[in-house]
Amino acid sequence: MTKPVDSSLPPVSPGTPGALTTGTSRRGFLRALSLAGAAAAFGPRLGAHPLTFSVNDMKLEFYPYTLELRHTFTIATSSRTTTPAMMVRVIKDGIVGYGEASMPPYLGESQDSAKAFLERVHLSAFPDPFQLEDVLRAIDMIAPGNPAAKAAVDIALHDWVGKKIGQPWFRIWGLDPAKTPVTSFTIGIDTKEVVRQKTEEASIYKVLKVKLGRDTDKMMIETIREVTDTPICVDVNQGWKDKAFALEMVEWLAKKNILFVEQPMPKEQIDDIAWLREKSPLPIIGDESVQRLPDVKKAWGVYDGINIKLMKCTGMREAYKMITLARALDMKVMLGCMTETSCAITAAAQLSPLVDWADLDGAVLIKNDIFNGATIVDGKITLPDRPGIGVRPVQ
Ligand SMILES: [Mg+2]
Repeated sequence: MTKPVDSSLPPVSPGTPGALTTGTSRRGFLRALSLAGAAAAFGPRLGAHPLTFSVNDMKLEFYPYTLELRHTFTIATSSRTTTPAMMVRVIKDGIVGYGEASMPPYLGESQDSAKAFLERVHLSAFPDPFQLEDVLRAIDMIAPGNPAAKAAVDIALHDWVGKKIGQPWFRIWGLDPAKTPVTSFTIGIDTKEVVRQKTEEASIYKVLKVKLGRDTDKMMIETIREVTDTPICVDVNQGWKDKAFALEMVEWLAKKNILFVEQPMPKEQIDDIAWLREKSPLPIIGDESVQRLPDVKKAWGVYDGINIKLMKCTGMREAYKMITLARALDMKVMLGCMTETSCAITAAAQLSPLVDWADLDGAVLIKNDIFNGATIVDGKITLPDRPGIGVRPVQ
């Protein structure tokens, strides 16, 4: 095992018992006495699980896992039947925190890249795993990119910290679990027969999310409207290249009970998207354009709202900051996902009382989920009342 290359990693706390009694000055000795006094004063109240750590022996484990999709999943730019993932565990004090990286190949990460990144993460280098702000910033600085691998560690640490405190994250963040939104169910680009069948299967959902961006767009919407009037969110995945065509499509969609249009054009066409947004009768939401926190500010004036995904933004901590910034800029917020197990889905669901729309159907789209977590009851996300991110491995 090699040490992280990043020199900004914090050293082991000088507050360890060994450091306090070895070669210390008189001032250091007096400081040690006062710390010992403070520990004695607070010790009994902290009980069997003191919230300070003089030595951190936290371990990180990970293994590759392949998510098997229920149906071949086709969007404007690609088609697939599996999604590579990396499952992560952090372990300390007999508590296990679970995390997950889901890596659709077109986004550039893989099980190999996640393994290479995670091998450089040494959680025992940090004096206190509760200091998520510093720990996650240092992990982010190990290497650029790798957002899903970073999210896996972020989720596992949040799970561990929540379990150590004994509270779920929605409660730590002060959120009302009754305010979770309904979640949409995604229908990929497909033949008329399959679209009809999937729409019928999705009858419990209060919102449908429909992938567009090929030459079958009107057929897709018309087929669904032959079956149901359920509101639809449209995701074009950058599929429309011409702004006049995009406006024509948005105006046509506006008569079909559509809630919003996500990433209508390539993310590079910023001026065209801003032009479309000004004329569009429907809200325009950025997804591929908005990866991390600094992108929220860039999206202001171009999009009406943003789609946040843990696998794009490095995890729960940055997602929370992105929601806060988007709200300050008076933007709409949507919480999305990749195909993921209930581990990452439930982690995202902890934030869902804060958002306008959620698209957290990733675990429903796979057939080999290995966690129990958030469930969908009557189309609405229902959070488990368990500490951490609230998941349990399937026995
Ligand atoms: Mg999208």
